[in-house]
Amino acid sequence: MSAPLTIIGTGMAGIGLLRRLRGLDARRPVTLITADSGDDYSKPLLSTGFTKRLAPERLTMRSALEVADRLGAVVRTHSPVEAIDPAARTLRLGQETLSFSELVLATGAAPALPFMIPESLGDRVFTINDLDDYRDFHAALSRLGRPARVAIIGAGLVGCEFADDLVGGGHRVSLVAPEPAPLARLLPEPLGLALAEAFREAGIHLAMGCSLASLEAQGQGLSLALSDGRHLEADLVLVATGLRPRAALARAAGLAVGDSGVLTDRRLATSAPGVYALGDVACVAGVNAMYVQPLQAGVRALAKTLTGTPTPVSYGAWPVLVKTSLLPVVALPPVARPVHWKIEGQGADLAALAEDESGRLSGFALTGSCVRRKVELARAAPPLLG
Ligand SMILES: Cc1cc2nc3c(=O)[nH]c(=O)nc-3n(C[C@H](O)[C@H](O)[C@H](O)COP(=O)(O)OP(=O)(O)OC[C@H]3O[C@@H](n4cnc5c(N)ncnc54)[C@H](O)[C@@H]3O)c2cc1C
Repeated sequence: MSAPLTIIGTGMAGIGLLRRLRGLDARRPVTLITADSGDDYSKPLLSTGFTKRLAPERLTMRSALEVADRLGAVVRTHSPVEAIDPAARTLRLGQETLSFSELVLATGAAPALPFMIPESLGDRVFTINDLDDYRDFHAALSRLGRPARVAIIGAGLVGCEFADDLVGGGHRVSLVAPEPAPLARLLPEPLGLALAEAFREAGIHLAMGCSLASLEAQGQGLSLALSDGRHLEADLVLVATGLRPRAALARAAGLAVGDSGVLTDRRLATSAPGVYALGDVACVAGVNAMYVQPLQAGVRALAKTLTGTPTPVSYGAWPVLVKTSLLPVVALPPVARPVHWKIEGQGADLAALAEDESGRLSGFALTGSCVRRKVELARAAPPLLG
């Protein structure tokens, strides 16, 4: 029997690709390998579950077994791939060596931690980057049996969405970050400050402009010392300090890898023949957007390439919709710098238009009622990857 097409990773990229492939080729042997449970779920919903008090089972769309059955694939769960030999077209899983015909790396991105989480605090300090993490955090909240004091470290997209979601779920939230305002990588400061104000009005305690200096157990809870000398007390800490492409496997196999992930061309082909990369791990022609729309465009293009029609991927001017119910936020960060921001509107309803050196629109950010302008502005903005 010929070696299967092998996909490493069962996130939205890995399972999405298998689903798309099956629409084009029902018979090719495919093996999916994952380090986690292999359950099919939508990662963006992880940061909306606490307001709705959703148990982890409610976020699971299909178990790994159902994925295998429905889509005619072998699915290996809880099986971290340890090494790849692109020349021999084999990979290593524990004592086993498996052959592949072609390989897709869909290993996603992992939390980038600014400090080691001490093992003794592992039941109180969390990251949430997959369904298993959500299960653990959800269990810790349930064990408390009362509204929790949660300190979130990091005020990027993930930190802000969890702050919004947890306060919506009745918890007491503190948000700690070194920048002067939340979402500093997506929003110019006046819009970040508008979000900060909406957070404050909802009771979120903001400790902006400082970082975590030390963390220690205090009874059943935690005591946090901040870099500006302040102290916070919390039951649980959620670390949301960014994600980094999980590219170690590719790097060790000798593939070309940069700071933004495994380098591919627009057909998602890596530097090794027969090996592709997709989703958060892939830096496609210099762009790693790390959100769903580009990932889905990659899925569509790669499914065609793998079934005999080489297809380059293109990305449109696709803004990110931040799921902060306290103040809607939409952003299309400009790719090129230097940039001049033109700010319009008032109060929490703001539009920031990024202009390049020639005065052309190169990106935008919107808050409050101005999010209505997203379609009109996206039409005028340049594509992420054209
Ligand atoms: C809380 C949160 C909210 C988000 N909200 C949004 C949103 O609203 N809109 C949006 O567009 N984007 C959002 N994103 C981003 C989006 O969810 C991701 O871009 C997308 O889910 C990435 O999917 P992926 O399949 O590339 O990676 P992942 O989902 O990370 O999957 C990686 C897979 O690889 C496996 N794996 C890794 N290493 C190995 C190994 N060595 N061996 C075997 N398996 C391995 C893992 O087990 C996993 O199955 C959000 C992200 C987070 C964390």
